[in-house]
Amino acid sequence: MPSSNVTRQLGQVSRQERADLLGHRGAVIWLTGLSGSGKSTLAYALERRLVAAHHAAYVLDGDNLRHGLCADLGFSPADREENIRRVGRAAALFADAGVLVIAAFISPYQQGREQARAMAGPDQFIEVYLDVPLAVCEQRDPKGLYQKARAGLIRDFTGLSAPYEIPTAPDLTLDTEANDVSSCVDVVIDRLTRGGFLRSETESRGSPP
Ligand code: ADP
Repeated sequence: MPSSNVTRQLGQVSRQERADLLGHRGAVIWLTGLSGSGKSTLAYALERRLVAAHHAAYVLDGDNLRHGLCADLGFSPADREENIRRVGRAAALFADAGVLVIAAFISPYQQGREQARAMAGPDQFIEVYLDVPLAVCEQRDPKGLYQKARAGLIRDFTGLSAPYEIPTAPDLTLDTEANDVSSCVDVVIDRLTRGGFLRSETESRGSPP
């Protein structure tokens, strides 16, 4: 709880002014799924594509933030909850500043994802579930973590010794086993366009002189 001496300050710049300045609305694109489901790969490919189209996009990656903002946290249920509270708040701040935030966190608990949605505001939060069977993630094992977890070297490993609660109503579900990275990026961009987050091509180029 903040001290009773802390008062909220109101700024003078509206969300619309920031959207006009940047040419798109801020949003949190929240990628959730098992380790190895493709969150980081998709996040960086999406960021690349959005920035190439002159949009202010930025990845918040679970592994990276655990080196800094969340370096003091482990993987117990309480620490995972605190992890999502902090990164959810960080994502909400970026989105408020007008950025298209791409958040790549396992975020195994429904409650944590709901909290992140509430912090960002439901109208600027897009939950994307990377739906890939555990066996496929384990076979990919890009960081060798499943192998370590199976060998008993990692405790509380999502999917093996810690739960993953499947999203009940995600905004998008992507099968990264059946579809390549580029087509998954296409689906997210299409969702952003349909949701009115991105200005249409003609609009962003401006009217002809
Ligand atoms: P996570 O961040 O969820 O732990 P990573 O992105 O580190 O997962 O690893 C996912 C692996 O799956 C990578 O080796 C990536 O090349 C592969 N992959 C195959 N198809 C896709 C896809 N459509 N989207 C994302 N990753 C994919």
